[in-house]
Amino acid sequence: MKKLIAFVTSLEEEVNILWLEHLKAVFNNYEIVLFKDLLQNDYERIEVALVANPNVEELLNLKNLKWVQSLWAGVEKLVHDVENSNFNISRMIDKNMSEVMSDSVLAWSFYLYKNMPLYKKQQDQTLWIEHEIKEKSEITITVLGLGELGLASALKLKNNGFNVKAWSRSKKEIEGISTYYGNDTLQELLKQSDILISLLPLSKETKNLLDQKKLKSLKKNASVINFSRASIFDYKALAFLLDEKHLKHAVLDVFSQEPLEKDSFLWKHEDITILPHISAPTNRRTASKIAFWNINEYFVNNKEPLFVDKNKGY
Ligand code: NAP
Repeated sequence: MKKLIAFVTSLEEEVNILWLEHLKAVFNNYEIVLFKDLLQNDYERIEVALVANPNVEELLNLKNLKWVQSLWAGVEKLVHDVENSNFNISRMIDKNMSEVMSDSVLAWSFYLYKNMPLYKKQQDQTLWIEHEIKEKSEITITVLGLGELGLASALKLKNNGFNVKAWSRSKKEIEGISTYYGNDTLQELLKQSDILISLLPLSKETKNLLDQKKLKSLKKNASVINFSRASIFDYKALAFLLDEKHLKHAVLDVFSQEPLEKDSFLWKHEDITILPHISAPTNRRTASKIAFWNINEYFVNNKEPLFVDKNKGY
């Protein structure tokens, strides 16, 4: 009998169909079944589930569940929602995603470095004004988070000639990048940053980390890119500092509620660029292969994938 893998998801029907096509193409010796199509007595056969925005009630029905393979890289909500459960969480770690994220980081860093928001404003007012810009090596870009996505991004920025600094929880050494770790170093680091990029996971420690005080420590005219999670920042304080002209521009890809509510003040802010959570979408083709690899290693070679540390929250 083929091993049964539940696919627990609250995605739209059409999106589930696309996922199932990709998953079934690689999961040859397994049977992948949407939770809603499982029979009641299938529940106890499930040891591993694939998840994408799962309904937690459904997951909790699977009493013999050992671990779940998330199709997403960010699992903050899942970690929070299943805090007291016994099963482990493996998140999506995909080189393809690191490549896509680092491209996004580079593109939006150039958008800020080349003053594109300002030239757009000038065009709207038919203004012909040239602005001198510094050399790239004189622009300090600070990347918060040096994990799968942060490291690839910091390296790409460095290889493109920017002066890169990076911050993590534990000590790291990376050639050509000034690295910092721990809370004590953050304020000082912010003071030196022209562009601040967050690629931190949301955890108890990072929630509201970039509050008004920290954002105010950024250099005058600094800009911010948030590609991680909204609650790491105080967006009201951010907008205030943009209004005050202490900060220049913010590129935001993530929001507490998505899609961003139509009446959010953020949409109308002239110094904020809103993106609909697109900096690094999961690639169904590569993610399905990685999910298969992790699950097959577990069943065939008894090897567990790397699990999220529930205490650290990432
Ligand atoms: P990761 O590999 O787990 O790396 C997290 C990094 O953050 C690590 O370097 C870690 O430090 C650092 N960190 C965590 N807590 C910290 C703290 N309190 N102080 C300082 N540094 C801290 O995560 P990832 O794969 O790079 O993903 C990062 C986040 O990106 C995800 O959690 C998700 O929210 C977001 N994301 C967004 C999109 C999008 O499309 N917008 C797509 C995918 C992911 P150590 O190395 O010392 O542990």
